[in-house]
Amino acid sequence: MSEREITSLTNDTVKAVRALHMRKEREATGRFLAEGLKFIGEALDQGRAPKILLVGQDARPHPLLDRAKAETRKAGGEIVVVTHAILEKISRRDNPQTVLAVFEQKYTPLDALKPETAPCWVALEQVRDPGNLGTIIRTADAAGCGGVILVGDCVDPFSVEAVRATMGSVFAVAICKATPAEFLAWRASWPGSVIGTRLDATSDHRSARVVRPSLVLMGNEQAGLTDDLAAACDVNVKIPMRGRADSLNLAVATGVMVYAMTEDA
Ligand code: SAM
Repeated sequence: MSEREITSLTNDTVKAVRALHMRKEREATGRFLAEGLKFIGEALDQGRAPKILLVGQDARPHPLLDRAKAETRKAGGEIVVVTHAILEKISRRDNPQTVLAVFEQKYTPLDALKPETAPCWVALEQVRDPGNLGTIIRTADAAGCGGVILVGDCVDPFSVEAVRATMGSVFAVAICKATPAEFLAWRASWPGSVIGTRLDATSDHRSARVVRPSLVLMGNEQAGLTDDLAAACDVNVKIPMRGRADSLNLAVATGVMVYAMTEDA
């Protein structure tokens, strides 16, 4: 398919891509928006080609851009050349990236996860902040975790803010979602340790005896980990709080936990 040029801010493709800022539209289409060549490169490395590649008229030639165009074409996707004003409108930014892309969302079913393929996995209960979720996905990837499981009513991992905060790791780790009941049923066959994180726990996070693969459960930003999920853990741990702060930010606490669980992995 050849490249198509769009200059009108009211073009249907422009409106459809911009609408991906809305959860309702992402759910209806199963698609999401990613910004920048770095993200697109991460996706291509994971065998994921854009459904739509939007290239700014002023985008500089780059080997990765050539690859993105070739792989988009090969996968039957669409390439559109757009004005700077359209990039601003779609990204809702004054200083937009010169290449944007629309991808299909991918959730891995819980039953398809292979726990032994990674030393650590993360489950998040009712995470509400997209920046936290994106940072956790990025950190889980960096620490060598296999995936992130969203339990209960969580923020959308494919929101533009969450995806931005992943810095491309949204393509690198498995993302699953489950109701609390589904999660608890599945957890029963987890082959390693299940570790809850609670401020009222008495065990230090480094002293818990852990059998890999570990599954680390993190709680909601306000309410913490619910009693039901904490009760399903082999052990609940606390990261020491040495100053006046009574808790860590959720993403920071997850970072501390996953690095502790993957040490020497
Ligand atoms: N008021 C909440 C509570 O009492 O649990 C605070 C929630 S905290 C901001 C959000 C999540 O981060 C917690 O559920 C836990 O998973 C994790 N977390 C934060 N600080 C922690 C710490 N010192 N030890 C263990 N987990 C912590």
